[in-house]
Amino acid sequence: MQSDPSGKRCYLCGSTENLTRDHVPPKNLFPPPRPSNLRTVPCCYTCNNGLSQDDEYFRVAVSAMINRSPDGERIWNERVIPSTFKDRRIGVLLDECVAKSIPSSISTPFGVIPSIAIPFRCEEIRRVLIRITKGFLFLTHPEVESGTIDYDVVIVPQFRAGDFAASLDGKMAYFELGNGIFRMWRGLADSDLRHGVWYYLFYNSAGFGVTHKPK
Ligand SMILES: [Zn+2]
Repeated sequence: MQSDPSGKRCYLCGSTENLTRDHVPPKNLFPPPRPSNLRTVPCCYTCNNGLSQDDEYFRVAVSAMINRSPDGERIWNERVIPSTFKDRRIGVLLDECVAKSIPSSISTPFGVIPSIAIPFRCEEIRRVLIRITKGFLFLTHPEVESGTIDYDVVIVPQFRAGDFAASLDGKMAYFELGNGIFRMWRGLADSDLRHGVWYYLFYNSAGFGVTHKPK
């Protein structure tokens, strides 16, 4: 993957002032020691301000999966429970999740396992996934104006996410970070890079599709 050859402008709004860096995907998804090859893009102070709440909510949602990888389980046990929950960093949002959670169960070859169905809000999750897509589009094709694109997000059913990913292998450009913590498949139309489809898999359990087309 190429680094940004376009110089310095915010990947979200195009501003060239007060630039900081933003990680794509959010670096809070990786337990320490973090991989040395995490990707960053220029991001202005105004756009960067306030992203951390979405990132925190997103991390809770993707690490809550019962079939998460060991890295996802570490994030849940070492970050989400002792830090996000304890410090109430996104207290109101999480109160809503807890209030709407319902006891559930999952049938497995080893018997029925009790679990909890947690209804996460889609809006925060959508915003993070679209930001990740804009970030990687900026890194690979900085000439594309992401402001002229419409994005759509599809949430893949939890227990089908891994199988769906396997079906994409060899058919789309693939990229991963942190030994499978973050996995990404990308397909862009040669004729117009504003048409594209992306599939993301976090902790080998939380799968999401993002599609985009010109406005
Ligand atoms: Zn900006």
